Amino acid sequence: MIQSVNPVPAFDIKQQYTGIEAEVSAAVLEVLASGRYIGGPLVEGFEQQFAAYHGVSQCVACNSGTDALYLALRALGIGAGDEVIATPFTFIATAEVISAVGAKPVFVDIDATTFNLDVEQIAAAITPKTKAIIPVHLFGQPVDMTSLMAIALSHNLSVIEDCAQSTGAMWGEQKVGSIGHIGCFSFYPTKNLGGCGDGGAITTNDPAIAAKLRVLRDHGSKIRYLHEEIGVNSRLDALQAAILQIKLRYLDIWNERRREIANYYYQFLSQIPAIVPPQELPGGIGVWNQYTIRISGQGRNGASAKYRDWVRTQLQDQGVSSMVYYPYPLHLQPVYQNLGYQIGDFPVAEQACHEVISLPMFPELTQQQQDQVIYALKDLLN
Ligand SMILES: *Cc1c(COP(=O)(O)O)cnc(C)c1O
Repeated sequence: MIQSVNPVPAFDIKQQYTGIEAEVSAAVLEVLASGRYIGGPLVEGFEQQFAAYHGVSQCVACNSGTDALYLALRALGIGAGDEVIATPFTFIATAEVISAVGAKPVFVDIDATTFNLDVEQIAAAITPKTKAIIPVHLFGQPVDMTSLMAIALSHNLSVIEDCAQSTGAMWGEQKVGSIGHIGCFSFYPTKNLGGCGDGGAITTNDPAIAAKLRVLRDHGSKIRYLHEEIGVNSRLDALQAAILQIKLRYLDIWNERRREIANYYYQFLSQIPAIVPPQELPGGIGVWNQYTIRISGQGRNGASAKYRDWVRTQLQDQGVSSMVYYPYPLHLQPVYQNLGYQIGDFPVAEQACHEVISLPMFPELTQQQQDQVIYALKDLLN
């Protein structure tokens, strides 16, 4: 079964750098020569550009997407005794930060088509202790923010958008991260806007929240060596800001390319009965951080993680790399045993964990590489 094909990687961040190498290298050398490595005009410039891109008045840069979420919860004063509604089908960071501030994550099942929080089920999870909802625009697909904001506002809850995988995505006329009270972004290298290291940012239209965030990210200090509260060290490096300023100018082009790739996949994969390809909600414009299909396991013993894993192995044998985001739902994680959830509590999320495969997706993916992915899947599943 050895075929003479070039391997197709799941992602490739080196290629993106090659395309903008001259610009990035010059900017990096300038930072090195400047002697200003943390904070400073490059970071402030990036904050302004990122705010303008999102049509919000405030942006506070920080050290990671995880810190962005943590700082957002802190800025809203959420802590011990509070509950925050979250999705069980996401990266651990989304829930981890709720626990880190001393609050309790309360999970709500996802919608089978979008993999995002099932907005209809949120109301039933709200208690007098609920303070906020953290919708995640997973894989780059926006949550139905119209419905979600209506529920949040009617219960007087804050909304923190986890936009780590969705920089540039739109719901209606608005960018995600500009619709809720606070938007949280990650610049981890594989995200749509990725730095060359860790980085994150927080967007808001509330100057008081932004002021609080600035204090919290810098050891709870407004005036140097005078500390008002317990904060953290979560600043963005000037090197990352310089690189992100350049990459922000290409983000829309890269996202558009991801959309073309997604359309091409859909055209062919929607014809394979054993595959459920992802689809956009009307009203949303996704940015496809991941292209995640479901393997329905038709004609075999139903869908199981074992079958999905077998499909992935076969793909790998044909040179096609893939990933599983996410193999375990958060409510069943060992670390959350104390919350008392059980298998079956969130059947849609649990099923997704058994069925999902994320296919190669990055702006530089060629049509020939995509064809290779499509042929491999057809070969296996048709
Ligand atoms: C990547 C990610 C985060 C965390 O971002 P880091 O920059 O890696 O800390 C949070 N939430 C989601 C959904 C993510 O994908």
